[in-house]
Amino acid sequence: MSAAPSSVAPTAAPAPPDIPVIDAPSVPFVEIEALRAEQFIPAAKEALTSLLAEQAQGKLIRPVFNWAGRNSLFPLHWGLACCAIEFASMFSARHDAERFGVVPRSSPRQCDLMIVNGTVTWKVAHKLITLYEQMPEPKWVIAMGNCATGGGPFRTAYSVVPGVDKLVPVDVYIAGCPPRPEALLDGILTLEALIRERGE
Ligand code: SF4
Repeated sequence: MSAAPSSVAPTAAPAPPDIPVIDAPSVPFVEIEALRAEQFIPAAKEALTSLLAEQAQGKLIRPVFNWAGRNSLFPLHWGLACCAIEFASMFSARHDAERFGVVPRSSPRQCDLMIVNGTVTWKVAHKLITLYEQMPEPKWVIAMGNCATGGGPFRTAYSVVPGVDKLVPVDVYIAGCPPRPEALLDGILTLEALIRERGE
């Protein structure tokens, strides 16, 4: 007679260990919010404001200012010698320089462009420098014609400055005796391209 198979009683699973509970003081949500409002938000605001100001100066305002400046050059309304006749003619109905935003102003404080349109003598040199210094930055100078560029036909005269760049920095030189109004307009467009290139 064969023996009956013995049955094995199932053993109970071991009890899980107790999870240690850290008895940390609970921070109510309201306090966290208050802390955030006190410390984080003002710091974030300050960082964001300074970042925006930096961006605005370097990347937003400057290009807009450059674009507006180079498309509205205000030359000083004055004349030194015979080239000034061609300068005046540039604003006539035939050439109409104002369609390029070029509007002459009689006060150097409202100008950003000095067009030296004639012979510069030593006698007038200090007046020219004073007018240049009265113009606000950024400002540019065009030497119009051979006299302003290098003294022209009077280069060897004792009374003539052999080029206005001996007195003020010149950005564009225009050759001719005198240059025609179209040449002066071309010089102004060259200056605009120069301003765009330099990013002034
Ligand atoms: S460059 Fe000729 S036209 Fe012009 S100011 Fe001199 S002399 Fe006169």
